[in-house]
Amino acid sequence: MTIDDDSKPGQKQARETGTSAGTTRLKFWGVRGSIPTPGPTTVKYGGNTSCVEVRANGQIIILDAGTGLRLLGRELMAEFDHQPLEVTLLLTHTHWDHIQGLPFFLPVYKPENQLRILGFEGARHGLDNVLTSQMESPFFPIGLREVPANVRIEELKELNFNVGPVRVQAWTANHPGVCVGYRLFTAAGSIAFFPDNEPHQAKDQRKEKEEMVAFLRGADVLIIDSQYDATEYEKHVGWGHGCVDDVVELALESEVKRLFLFHHDPNHDDTKISQMVAHARELVAKRKGRLRVEAAREGATIELDGKEKHAMPISKPPRSDKSQAPKTAER
Ligand SMILES: [Zn+2]
Ligand SMILES: [Zn+2]
Repeated sequence: MTIDDDSKPGQKQARETGTSAGTTRLKFWGVRGSIPTPGPTTVKYGGNTSCVEVRANGQIIILDAGTGLRLLGRELMAEFDHQPLEVTLLLTHTHWDHIQGLPFFLPVYKPENQLRILGFEGARHGLDNVLTSQMESPFFPIGLREVPANVRIEELKELNFNVGPVRVQAWTANHPGVCVGYRLFTAAGSIAFFPDNEPHQAKDQRKEKEEMVAFLRGADVLIIDSQYDATEYEKHVGWGHGCVDDVVELALESEVKRLFLFHHDPNHDDTKISQMVAHARELVAKRKGRLRVEAAREGATIELDGKEKHAMPISKPPRSDKSQAPKTAER
C-alpha cells in the first residue's frame, strides 16, 4: 500500500493495519480451551484453541498463540503479501492450548517479518526456553531460533507497559502456574482478556476478588474463561477455570459492558454453549443488569468505535509481587 509522506502519525499505521484511526477491531481465531475440538458438533463456535487478534492504534496485537494462530497467520500472509509485517504477541501463559499455534504461524517463515513475543516467566523455565523447547527436535522439524523472521522473545517484568501507543496492564489470573490476563486501553475502548481464570469465590479470597473487580472495572469488552456450568464446576473447584455463573457475577460487579464467554470446554458442543449463553443472559436479566453476553465464536469480528466511553484505568496499580501468583495444583 502506498503511503503519503504527509500522513499524520498513526494514520499511516492505521491504514496498514486495516483499521480507521479511531476504531479498534477484534477478531476471534480460537475460542476453545485445553485441546482443539474439530468435528460436526463444534462448527458454530469453533474448535481451535485460544487466539484473538486486536487491531488498534496502528498496531496488530495477538492475544495468545493457540491453534487459531495458524488461520490468522494465513490471512496475514495474504494481506501483507508485498510488505513487511510487524506483530506483537501477548502470551497469558505457556500451557499447550495457548502456544501450540506458534510453529504453524506462517509469517515467521518470511525474513522481512518481525514478531515480538511478550509474556511472563514460564512456570519452571524462562519464557524463551519454554517457547523454543516446543519446537526442538523430537517435537518439530524447525527450531524457533532457525526461522527466517526476526522473532524477539521478551520476558515481561512490569505489569504496566505499552505496545506502540496502546497502553497495556497485566494482572495475575487464578490459574495453576504463572498465568496473567491483559487489559488493552485502545483509542476506541478497553479490552480485558482472561482466557484461563477461576473467579475467586472463597471467603479468604475476598481481597483477590476485589482486586480483580478493580482491574476489570468498566471494560468495554471482557473475554474470559467460562469453561463450566454450575454442576460441572462442583467437581472442578480449584482447577483454575471459570463457572459461567461466577463469571457473570464478576462482569456485573466490574460494570463491564460486553462479556464474551471463552475457553469453551472440549466436551461442550454447540448446543451446550448456546444453553450456557442463554443461562448467562437470564442471570443478567434477574439482576436487571445491562451487560451484553455472547459466547466467543471463531471467525467473529467485533468493532469498537469509542462511542461507549470507557472508564478510566484503575487508580491503584496492581501488585507486581510474583509471590502473589496463585498456588493451585498443576493440572
Ligand atoms: Zn487454557
Ligand atoms: Zn492454562
